[in-house]
Amino acid sequence: MNNNTGAILVLSGPSGAGKSSLLNEIINDIGECYFSISTTTRQIRDGEENGVHYYFVSEEEFKKDIEEDNFLEYAFVHGNYYGTSLKPVKKSLNEGKLVLFDIDVQGNTLVNNRLGDITTSVFISPPTLSELKKRLQDRSTDAQDVVERRLEMAKKEIQRISEYDYLVINDNLKEAADVLRTIAKASRLKVPDNEINEFVQKWEDIDL
Ligand code: 5GP
Repeated sequence: MNNNTGAILVLSGPSGAGKSSLLNEIINDIGECYFSISTTTRQIRDGEENGVHYYFVSEEEFKKDIEEDNFLEYAFVHGNYYGTSLKPVKKSLNEGKLVLFDIDVQGNTLVNNRLGDITTSVFISPPTLSELKKRLQDRSTDAQDVVERRLEMAKKEIQRISEYDYLVINDNLKEAADVLRTIAKASRLKVPDNEINEFVQKWEDIDL
């Protein structure tokens, strides 16, 4: 069956799990993609650009978007709002693209509730909590209390790995990228419910 409806690949995992590095490794090998740029109320970090890493907005602007039903999903994470705008996602799906999300566990639940039949979800984890702590401290973009908060969040998120289709442990970047590449390619082959129904209907319409 030829699926040109597009598909969704959700990537979740603690900050410091290496999601961006993994994506950079595979992005040229997985066909036409759209990486969803989230909107957030958190402070911009050094090295980040508005409209590239996130759309950075005020809490007031974010709440207006909620009221106007502009989000496919949104969540309150680490004391800030994060949300996925619906419009560019719809457009990319209609163009048959693979839409990539970097969202938290709450977002994964919401996306699966709305578009589960075309969604594949992957939890990316560092091998251990102490390795995560080291990576966050080495990155030194966050103050110590923020690092502590992220570690606490990571402990909670890891309790919910069973809600994901796949777990990728990012110990060795190349090996983890190989696994993620395979999952991303397979995620495109998921057949949406309407296409399955059409296919089944065709079989029922044929008199033997
Ligand atoms: P960071 O502040 O490190 O960029 O992201 C913090 C967390 O927010 C990460 O777990 C990330 O996956 C999550 N996140 C980023 N964008 C979104 C979004 O649009 N929706 C949801 N639900 N989570 C998001």
